[in-house]
Amino acid sequence: MAKLEIYQFPTRADNYGVLIHDPETGATAAIDAPEADPILAALQDKGWTLTDILITHHHADHTAGVEALKKKTGCTVYGPAREAGLIPGLDVEVKEGDAVAVGNAKGRVIETPGHTRGHVSYYFPDDAVVFVGDTLFSVGCGRLLEGDAPTMWSSLSKLAALPPETEVYCGHEYTGANCRFALTVEPENEALQARAKEVAENDAKGLPSLPTTIGLELATNPFLRPSSAAIQHRLGMEGQALDAVFGEVRSRKDRF
Ligand SMILES: [Zn+2]
Repeated sequence: MAKLEIYQFPTRADNYGVLIHDPETGATAAIDAPEADPILAALQDKGWTLTDILITHHHADHTAGVEALKKKTGCTVYGPAREAGLIPGLDVEVKEGDAVAVGNAKGRVIETPGHTRGHVSYYFPDDAVVFVGDTLFSVGCGRLLEGDAPTMWSSLSKLAALPPETEVYCGHEYTGANCRFALTVEPENEALQARAKEVAENDAKGLPSLPTTIGLELATNPFLRPSSAAIQHRLGMEGQALDAVFGEVRSRKDRF
């Protein structure tokens, strides 16, 4: 089976738009719809026709373009059943484990609540890629707007369990600021130091530091590392429950 082609482009203030394209069938999905015009321009650049939109969560910076795109292309809109009333133009409500097809590419829904109550991620195992919206960022994670720390920790743990080579596409790029915070929590982490250097170089050249991979996040992201003895020691939380350590890292980031 041919690999999915993936096109990432900046949109709005700090969102990323992502298109995924199955070359065998021509099917093309947008991951979220931050706004219509940049997505239509990206489709035109690639010569692709939109067939589907996969919504991760209801926030306006992920859904504002849905209705205009649907009107223009007649595409089918997938999104979390638990946020059905909040997503305009939703056609197919999805839950944990549901199959999602983009042409011949087979995806699977992973429920990842915490940032919002019904947030979902879309995992395409044959292509080793996951689209995580605002649940996981590179060296960061989404704010807990509609969920508590144990809920978000459980969601992040599902993503952390994917194969390490899995590529991760996120809704936003905050990697530089995330590295500056992460170094306050785990300053001696050499993989994190190297990532911070790489991200600063990318930022200086105006290049994205996304996609990332699950393996890179496991090595560098303090929100996936509450089991780190160095982090627990720094927070004065040796031996405490992982969701509690995660929660403390999250609240320190909120105040950073
Ligand atoms: Zn959001």
